[in-house]
Amino acid sequence: MAREIISLNSITFRYPGGDHDVLKNVSFSVQEGEWVAIVGHNGSGKSTLAKLMNGLYFPDKGSIQIVGISLEKDTVWETRKHIGMVFQNPDNQFVGTTVQDDVAFGLENHGVPHEEMVKRVNRALKQVKMDDFLNQEPHHLSGGQKQRVAMASVLALRPDIIILDEATSMLDPTGRQEVIGLVRSLKEEQEMTVLSITHDLEEAAKADRMIVMNQGEVYRTGTPREIFELGDELVQLGLDLPFYLKMGNALKAQGVQLSGQHLTEEELV
Ligand code: ADP
Repeated sequence: MAREIISLNSITFRYPGGDHDVLKNVSFSVQEGEWVAIVGHNGSGKSTLAKLMNGLYFPDKGSIQIVGISLEKDTVWETRKHIGMVFQNPDNQFVGTTVQDDVAFGLENHGVPHEEMVKRVNRALKQVKMDDFLNQEPHHLSGGQKQRVAMASVLALRPDIIILDEATSMLDPTGRQEVIGLVRSLKEEQEMTVLSITHDLEEAAKADRMIVMNQGEVYRTGTPREIFELGDELVQLGLDLPFYLKMGNALKAQGVQLSGQHLTEEELV
């Protein structure tokens, strides 16, 4: 049976000096090998969840377990080893002057021996299909390629979990597809656990499960199919429905019967 790799139990959190709780009694878990998407309108608390899971802040109430380790001030370096974070702006994540230097950087910091480092850099760049770009300058790559290199840097450190915090939101449609395709292959072929934080429901539709946040609370969790059944309720939560759902709703409003009552899995992915 799959084990619980992330577990948040009744988390309440307020930023230091803040005037309200930005997370209220939030509980959810992620199983090993699962891809979970956290969605919600701006300010609903998604990025704060990522900051808590990465130990940048600690909850006022409740507890967090990462790979079975209770996340506390004195375990944060241990739990961080298991998590790779990828952020919104790929340009802010580069430190090397070439793609391979960039991926090697984190490994150097971890004191990985040179021979092992070369192997890991090559493997990680193969995983993200960027092994033809070893000597390119990261800043000359497309947005999607940059995010793939950022993901290679994370993968080289061999985390158990990848957390993507709006990692596709600055990309053009091609770049977004590249990154989403890569996430899917990491999950399917390499059994990585993925937590993607996004306001893009089309991206979230590809996940195994979705968590809908609203005003610092978990509003609903379910498979993408279950969540999309909420229809206009999602619009009221400030979420932008995927194009095909908008089309379906527009057709229904005009009395056009769709072939099936519900979208098939194929249509959702
Ligand atoms: P989301 O990622 O869903 O857009 P955030 O987690 O960034 O939401 O923000 C949740 C709430 O926390 C918002 O009301 C936001 O203004 C507040 N917030 C975010 N970062 C800070 C901070 N560093 N200090 C104080 N309040 C913050």
